[in-house]
Amino acid sequence: CGIVGYAGPQSALDVVIAGLKRLEYRGYDSAGVAVLAGGDLLAAKRAGKLVNLDKALAEAPLPAGPVGIGHTRWATHGAPNDTNAHPHLDSAGRVAVVHNGIIENFAALRAELAGRGHVLASQTDTEVVSHLLAEAFEECGGLAEAMRRVCRRLDGAFTLVAVHADVPGVVVGARRDSPLVVGVGEGETFLASDVAAFIAHTRDAIELGQDQVVEARRDGVTVTGFDGSPAEVRSYHVDWDASA
Ligand code: GLU
Repeated sequence: CGIVGYAGPQSALDVVIAGLKRLEYRGYDSAGVAVLAGGDLLAAKRAGKLVNLDKALAEAPLPAGPVGIGHTRWATHGAPNDTNAHPHLDSAGRVAVVHNGIIENFAALRAELAGRGHVLASQTDTEVVSHLLAEAFEECGGLAEAMRRVCRRLDGAFTLVAVHADVPGVVVGARRDSPLVVGVGEGETFLASDVAAFIAHTRDAIELGQDQVVEARRDGVTVTGFDGSPAEVRSYHVDWDASA
């Protein structure tokens, strides 16, 4: 439902949680975050409102970290519980993925992953993506390229945002038939399902086109098609008043 990603000098955890709060009006049943800090990937997620996640983070704090992602979920596949909340990790806990939309061919992909020995923890359509992304990264060694490879295998509508513990400065995103916008700040970059999530930080935005992947770093972004071809970037200035 709501997605936020961040790379920059601020506490990614704080930026992501504040961004999710700006998206609360959309309605959701669960919330979660993941941060990269010191080569580790750390995640927390809870069914219910963001206040439940806040409580969990107060009891078991996550490090600030320069890179993070977050999600508010509106369940389509799998009950709204802690396990099915996003982010979804791969088996090794090195990849974290958040997703809006529906992966229509998830059942076939789950069966394929099970055949290769993957154990999936949730009942969501989303979790196949974290496992496929981990495999693709093993094969190609690049997170954006891994995302492109995975997206070419997915049917359905999706916004995906992901991080990998082996790629500490990067958040990748992808979209098909579901929105993803990039906020370009001074030495910091935001990804979100809606500009409302980052408007307090920057009004310089890029709208990701259909079937495109973005690699976001604190110093900028690289946008390509799912096929790897360089994409024309459409920048714009957000001039509506989002503070109301
Ligand atoms: N289909 C996914 C799920 O049920 C994502 C739902 C959403 O867009 O929040 O977990």
